[in-house]
Amino acid sequence: MNYLHILCPPVWEKLPSLGPAYLLSYLRGYNINTFFVDLNNIAFNLASLEMKRSWTINRTFTGNFLFEYCFKDHFEIFEKVIETIDKNKINFVGFSVFNTNRFFAIEMARFLKKNFKKVKIIFGGPEVLTIKFEGYRYPDFVDYFVMGEGEIALKKIITEDPLENIFEFEEQKDINFFPDFSDVDLNDYPRKNALPVIFGRGCVNKCNFCSERLLYKYYRHKDENFFIDELLYYKEKFGIEWITFYDSMLNANIKSFEKVLDLMIERRLNLKWDAQIAIRNDMCDEIFFKMKEAGCINLFIGLESGSDNILSKMNKNFTTEIAKSFFKKLKGANLHFEISLIIGYPDETEKDFRKTLSFIEENMELIPKIAQVSIFRNYPGITARRTTEYEEKESMKKLEFFVNFLENKKIPFTRSYINNLI
Ligand code: SF4
Repeated sequence: MNYLHILCPPVWEKLPSLGPAYLLSYLRGYNINTFFVDLNNIAFNLASLEMKRSWTINRTFTGNFLFEYCFKDHFEIFEKVIETIDKNKINFVGFSVFNTNRFFAIEMARFLKKNFKKVKIIFGGPEVLTIKFEGYRYPDFVDYFVMGEGEIALKKIITEDPLENIFEFEEQKDINFFPDFSDVDLNDYPRKNALPVIFGRGCVNKCNFCSERLLYKYYRHKDENFFIDELLYYKEKFGIEWITFYDSMLNANIKSFEKVLDLMIERRLNLKWDAQIAIRNDMCDEIFFKMKEAGCINLFIGLESGSDNILSKMNKNFTTEIAKSFFKKLKGANLHFEISLIIGYPDETEKDFRKTLSFIEENMELIPKIAQVSIFRNYPGITARRTTEYEEKESMKKLEFFVNFLENKKIPFTRSYINNLI
């Protein structure tokens, strides 16, 4: 049996995708002939400057017309997929489906099914959760759906061609294996000498607005020494100088996080890195200094609100006081960080919103940058109450007000991440 994995555009374009690299590695470990086409990267490199701009600023919007644009102006993309299927006698084609590339993936699958009737189509990725939580119906030409991690389910589908068509949350206990990047040329990606890595899968928190945590049943991490060997391998093989952690929460297990930092320092990795971490009150000062010494250049932190009332409704495990003290420790260790905020969380009052404005203003010397500001989204399966269309419109007004506030106060923020969640 031969398997082709396709990553459709538009998704984040800066680095090769990590999910497919793990799938390829796992399946190859079972001697399954596996191929990969990163259409996201190919399409981004072919896109006009105007299209690239739209892609970066609003992927959801771009996702609505990108398929037609590629079909009309870059049919070579489709020819490449056809050739790969023909040449390698592909039996199964899998897609990583996200909110932004869902339309492209469906249309590409439709196109392939027309041309290759016997090829079975598999959809996985976060967007497939909409079946479970929203009753979303994908077209009948999709043969299998995988929710959560893909490795075990994909192997089963490819080797057994089973009768059931939905596979839910079959998780790997042992994640000590390398992803396989051999199908892509790292020079084709905008961020040079860099790779995405993951130390742990899942998250230990349960924020009520978060759909990311629904992709995993529980948190696991790699063996710390194994992980350091993996990083050294990337350095030697690809000349990597920069790694981006894709962990939902790199500091989920403080003890092992600290051990990784110690090993990075001891074994002189000399890598720059950025990551997403959570605010917590149980990290000692020393860890912050170790992060700096181990090469940390940027951290992404979900503050989400400056109102304790809303933080508690979100089920965030911290208060604004804890957040402030955490930010002080980061600043004390000379660590750069960026925060994200959610505007219009269900039942957020005008008073709550004002508290967020005050928190940002009072701490503008402490917070280097606002990375992401978005209105609350009704993601599938989240535990927060769903907002109405009217509430969304009100949130958009608040968001506009908030952006003006940032501009007036000259608070640095990333314009391309305003209401542009991936
Ligand atoms: S800490 Fe982040 S990944 Fe974990 S549940 Fe909260 S928002 Fe989701």
